[in-house]
Parts: sequence; structure tokens; C-alpha cells
Amino acid sequence: MAVKIGVLALQGAFAEHSQYLQRCGAEVVEVRLPAHLDGLDGLILPGGESTTIGKLLRRYQFEEPLRQFSKPIWGTCAGMILLAQEVINGLPDQLMLQRIDLRVTRNAFGRQVDSFTADLEVSNLSQPLPAVFIRAPLAEPLNDQVEVMARYRGQVAAARQGNIWVSSFHPELSGDLRMHQAFVDGCVGSR
Ligand code: GLN
Repeated sequence: MAVKIGVLALQGAFAEHSQYLQRCGAEVVEVRLPAHLDGLDGLILPGGESTTIGKLLRRYQFEEPLRQFSKPIWGTCAGMILLAQEVINGLPDQLMLQRIDLRVTRNAFGRQVDSFTADLEVSNLSQPLPAVFIRAPLAEPLNDQVEVMARYRGQVAAARQGNIWVSSFHPELSGDLRMHQAFVDGCVGSR
């Protein structure tokens, strides 16, 4: 049976993630309600606007189910912010699912640098990844449980802690399937 991966589809760049996952051989479920998490082998929280996604997660009562979800989760950009233990530059009611021990700074590049692409060395990939940063966060680890997979200007741009994966860039816009393939393989491995 194909590995079944959910993509949170409340707001943001979920359609692109779905396409990349399908190209990696996964069956994709667009997750709009907590019940859609049942039976998944993994989940992506996409980029978008973390404050908006956070409000929608509260409205649809996703908070507890996402704190309990035991399969791999990959948060990209806004998704990384949502998974963090601490958020700098968040709104007062910023939702923090606290699934990874990172202190994440929202909009780490300020207003001058809105978006850009950089070739990034990622620890599990043999060649650099063209990483697309869009109003991106950066992070610092809070302890050594966090495995840093990529840094940009000294700060964390991709990391893992157990089965929680994060990246501050948009891998679904890179034209490069390797990180999605690694995540799909990780989901197959933890079935
Ligand atoms: N700056 C956005 C936020 O705080 C994240 C941007 C993105 O996901 N591309 O949610």
C-alpha cells in the first residue's frame, strides 16, 4: 500500500507540497479537519502565514490532535514556526505546538529581504538544495536533542528532532524533490 501523507490545507502553499509528494509516490490527503489525520503515515504543515494558520487550527480544534500526532511531521516556513517551542516576533496569541526544541524568529530577514533563493548544504543530501526563502524564519536550537540539518548565516534553516522535521525555506518551490523523497522515506520507515 502507498504511504499516505497528509498536507494541512487550511491556508498557504499546500497544493505544491501535494504535487511533490505525489511525484515521490505518496498518496496525499488534504487535511482540513482533525478527523482527516486518522490513518496518516505523516503530515506536512506548509508555508503560508503562521498567525492565520494558527487561528484556523484553533477554530477547527486541531491543537490537541497535533500535539498528540505520533507520525512524522514536517513543518516548512510557517509550519516550522507553528511547531517551535518558542517564537520571537510572534503575535501575543501566536499558536506554538511546541513539538521541536527550537527558538524560531519570524521574518528573520526583515522587510528589506522579502524573498530569495540560496544553494544550501543539507546534511542528508549529497548536493546543495536550491532553497527558496520567503519572509522566512530562522532558528536556534534550545538543546542538543535537535539535529541541525542546514544553517544559513549561522542560524538553523533545517532541523530534525525525532520524527519532527522543519525547514525555514519552501522546498516545494525548489524544483527539487530530494527533501520530499527523504521525508516520504522517513514516513515509510516509521510505519
Ligand atoms: N512570515 C510568515 C509567518 O510568520 C512565514 C512565511 C512563509 O511561510 N513563507 O508565518
